[in-house]
Amino acid sequence: MKIIAIGRNYAEHAKELNNPVPTVPVIFLKPDTALLKDNKPFYLPDFSTDIHFELEVVLKIAKEGKHIAEKFATNYFDEIALGIDFTARDIQNKHKEKGLPWELAKAFDHSAPISSFIPKANLGDLYNLNFELQVNGKTRQKGNTKDLLFSFEKIIAFVSQYITLKKGDLIFTGTPEGVGQVHKGDRLEAWLMDNQLLNFEVK
Ligand code: MG
Repeated sequence: MKIIAIGRNYAEHAKELNNPVPTVPVIFLKPDTALLKDNKPFYLPDFSTDIHFELEVVLKIAKEGKHIAEKFATNYFDEIALGIDFTARDIQNKHKEKGLPWELAKAFDHSAPISSFIPKANLGDLYNLNFELQVNGKTRQKGNTKDLLFSFEKIIAFVSQYITLKKGDLIFTGTPEGVGQVHKGDRLEAWLMDNQLLNFEVK
């Protein structure tokens, strides 16, 4: 399986990092070795001094498809989770300055903690989903899917023009504003509506 992630999909987050609001989705990939499941602790890597959390709504692809039309895209995902797109911001900033790809900042081992999944049918309106990240009991990110620049269906239609989607692939759909650095000993907890889905420690 593969992990596809969308950058700058909430306008307020694009602005906080001084990036333009995109007119087409910005995408990058993480390998399956980035996954961190079952609320296992995240160990800070030694190659970065500025690992940032980015809380994101994650889609699980339900069946294979390419060149998927936007109007049919809803049939291609069936479950939703929360994930953290851990980012080595110091490395990313250096690579952005030089116009280099972001993989070393985004695709490292365990850079994609993922929660259990909820069937989308149980979540009601997919474009009014509140999600929230607390670090050590303090709210740091609060988002709502109504603020997505590119809808889930638009993302699936766009990505599948270039990359075949397969059952079990994951799409990280972008983070709202409020991203920040994690430190040793932090506890990250995240909710999708009333469901606490993430609860793990940084070591
Ligand atoms: Mg992200």
